[in-house]
Amino acid sequence: MKIKAREGDTLTSLSQAFYIPVPLIQEANGRLDSDVLTPGKQVDIPGYESEQYRLRQGDSLWEISRRCEVREDAILMLNQGISFQSIQPDKVILIPSRIKNIIITEKVPYNFDTFNKDLLRLLTVYPFIKKRVIGRSVLNQPIIELKIGRGKEKVHWNGSFHANEWITTPVIMKFINELALSVTNGKEIMHTNMLKIFETRSISIVPMVNPDGVDLVLNGPPSHIKDKLIQLNGGRDDFTGWKANIRGVDLNKQFPARWQDEKQRKNLTSPGPRDYGGIKPLSEPETIVMAKLAQKEKFDVLLAFHTQGQEFYWGFGGLEPQKSKSLAEAIEKMSGYSSVQFIDSYAGYKDWFIKKFRNPGFTIELGKGINPLPLSQFDEIYSASRGIFIASLLY
Ligand SMILES: [Zn+2]
Repeated sequence: MKIKAREGDTLTSLSQAFYIPVPLIQEANGRLDSDVLTPGKQVDIPGYESEQYRLRQGDSLWEISRRCEVREDAILMLNQGISFQSIQPDKVILIPSRIKNIIITEKVPYNFDTFNKDLLRLLTVYPFIKKRVIGRSVLNQPIIELKIGRGKEKVHWNGSFHANEWITTPVIMKFINELALSVTNGKEIMHTNMLKIFETRSISIVPMVNPDGVDLVLNGPPSHIKDKLIQLNGGRDDFTGWKANIRGVDLNKQFPARWQDEKQRKNLTSPGPRDYGGIKPLSEPETIVMAKLAQKEKFDVLLAFHTQGQEFYWGFGGLEPQKSKSLAEAIEKMSGYSSVQFIDSYAGYKDWFIKKFRNPGFTIELGKGINPLPLSQFDEIYSASRGIFIASLLY
């Protein structure tokens, strides 16, 4: 919600008027560093929306403030030029309304369009979340990274590397929303002070690594490449089992970490719905983007969300650091999922991340059943995921 600073307004006074911590207002407005605000400057107050209110006979500023549970000064700030000395009945004013509930759409098939709509809403209400396009998919859809927090420790999460594991995207989006609610309303998540996390961590999130694949599973093939895709899919027009990107390359078998071994193990020589690792490592735009991101940011910890199995993997040939073990124990404790150090699968993002940076990397297999997991599992999956997100932030 945007307001205009008045003579004498400061970051501190805005923070007090709206009960929103100063760091959030700073980050929502492109890092305001001076406390004193220039009169007329537009300031975005995160966690609020303005609502229309029709004045009634007998209303007073005090009465409206009490009824709407918002400070008088906050009402005045949003209604500059309006006199509350002599109330005009039927005049419409604006009331700052604090957001206290989840605003993303829950329990719907989460395609790229839904993801974008939710994103727009989230970024409007919580402008301290930063969005960046880090690259483009094969079909030229943007691959989006979000950033939250201004601390030194770098945590990375991603979802929907695999097309029919798209449920990982709304799980991540819901947690971002919960985190934003938590910092703006001063509520802890699992006994964790999230404002402190905001100040000490930088969270990088790519909620949908494979937008083309997700849309293929949920919307069906785009008409101009329909025949080609049916052919790649072994003649079938049911794409619910599709994991790969739109060219039939499995993005989590694409990284230079025993890529050749994985290729031999899967023994696939041509593109298809799953498991084909490409003609060479990092041949696809989506994997190139993700590799570049990690190379640039050198995350301290990385979590790649997949489905299914209610377990997670954290080793890569013994190259994983000592601290991976303690984090694995924390994740196990906080989610109830089974900790698995080694599995017979290579060339994934976390494998390459561990090999390259020797920092803790995890592949998390959410939920249990046949992919794509049904939305009826969403609440159960989300509840386990919360513990995983928090564990990675407390690391
Ligand atoms: Zn997967």
